[in-house]
Amino acid sequence: MTLTVRFAPSPTGHLHVGNARIAVVNWVLARKAGGTAVLRLDDTDAQRSTAAFADAILADLAWLGLTWDSVERQSERIAMYDAAAEKLRHSGRLYACYETPEELAYARNRQHRMGLPPIYDRRALSLSDEQRATHEADGRTPHWRFRLADQDIGFVDLVRGETSFHARNLSDPVLIRSDGTYLYMLPSVVDDADLAITHVIRGEDHVTNSAIQTQLFEALGAPVPMFAHLPLLTDTVGGKLAKRFGSTNLDHFREQGCEPMAINAMLATLGTADDIEPFADLDAIVAAFEITRFGRAQPRFDEARLRAINARWLRERPYGDVAERFEALGLIGANEPFWNAVRGNIERFSDVTLWHEVCFGEISPQGGDPGFLAVAADLLPDGPLSESTWAPWTSAIREATGTKGKALFKPLRRALTGREHGPELKRLLPLMGRERVLGRLTGRENGASS
Ligand code: GLU
Repeated sequence: MTLTVRFAPSPTGHLHVGNARIAVVNWVLARKAGGTAVLRLDDTDAQRSTAAFADAILADLAWLGLTWDSVERQSERIAMYDAAAEKLRHSGRLYACYETPEELAYARNRQHRMGLPPIYDRRALSLSDEQRATHEADGRTPHWRFRLADQDIGFVDLVRGETSFHARNLSDPVLIRSDGTYLYMLPSVVDDADLAITHVIRGEDHVTNSAIQTQLFEALGAPVPMFAHLPLLTDTVGGKLAKRFGSTNLDHFREQGCEPMAINAMLATLGTADDIEPFADLDAIVAAFEITRFGRAQPRFDEARLRAINARWLRERPYGDVAERFEALGLIGANEPFWNAVRGNIERFSDVTLWHEVCFGEISPQGGDPGFLAVAADLLPDGPLSESTWAPWTSAIREATGTKGKALFKPLRRALTGREHGPELKRLLPLMGRERVLGRLTGRENGASS
């Protein structure tokens, strides 16, 4: 049987790193097994789902480079849910309930006061035909609950191991609202069965749903898939992620100039290892991935760490990987030596524009000791500058001025680049060219053409 997974976001908001992680893990597992990856949009909640959110989710996933073998929309599959509901009704597993939300809340409060768990008391099961008719005559339309079988429910979770529940500790779930629309529980099972999903991989917050859904699969005569529940990401202090609105959404990181591969690497690794390797591409992640490496602890998502991985990822890229991006930015002269010189000094790719200015454009005058800089200008070796210009040049300046170490390099760096830190000057010299270097040392001009 082909391993088949699904990622099932609800288009009721933007994708954040928590659900993107579930997408990445599902996708990588499918690719690793040579299996199938389905994207399912859980859009049965017509009030909260929007086409704009669905489009944004598709765009975010495409940005990460995750491609899907098929895309399904639950709103187009309602007839299948109706058929499944009918089957459950027929076998006595779906029953009509007439309580109002207020009545249910009242019952829950009472249970709470008595120290009992908030489990539905199945009152509706004992309604007489007459009582039912009275409710209907009162204008109440029923909602429908799934009758759980009174038995142990167990499965071997790929992450949590042996997992078990007893149905008596669970409420019969509402599958259909009184307006006839479906809640999440049944459509998910119908789709998983119809699309032959073999592995359901999702967050730990769904583990109780998996117990209920196990019974639903069985009641519908469908095989129960394997489950894997990943511990949810937390923020840097162990709190719930995404408290600050928007700050963990994927589009936020895209706008910040984050590389999709830095996010993929982080999301595929968090919870499996302490070190996060900045994998070159998705193939490299697939090759290294092992679902059994996920532990039970909740991994922390740290934006600063993501930025560091992003910088490392960029530093490790060969020129060929980024050449087209220079063209797109219109950066003339951004050749391989330029990239090799600056790639270790950028946090995000767009930072190259700054170093491009330094190498090929103009910088603001920095001042400095004119006498010292004039000597440096005089001693600049004749001919075109190369990486081997630096050592003899700075030796000559040292001999002539008696300055060394930081006192020698800092004023040179400041005059030549306008900054305190940056790429190795010996690599920048040949990029800047003789005229620009002399111009900056003498204050004659600030980087006019060489
Ligand atoms: N739409 C559900 C969610 O976003 C899907 C859960 C599942 O994977 O079954 O939580």
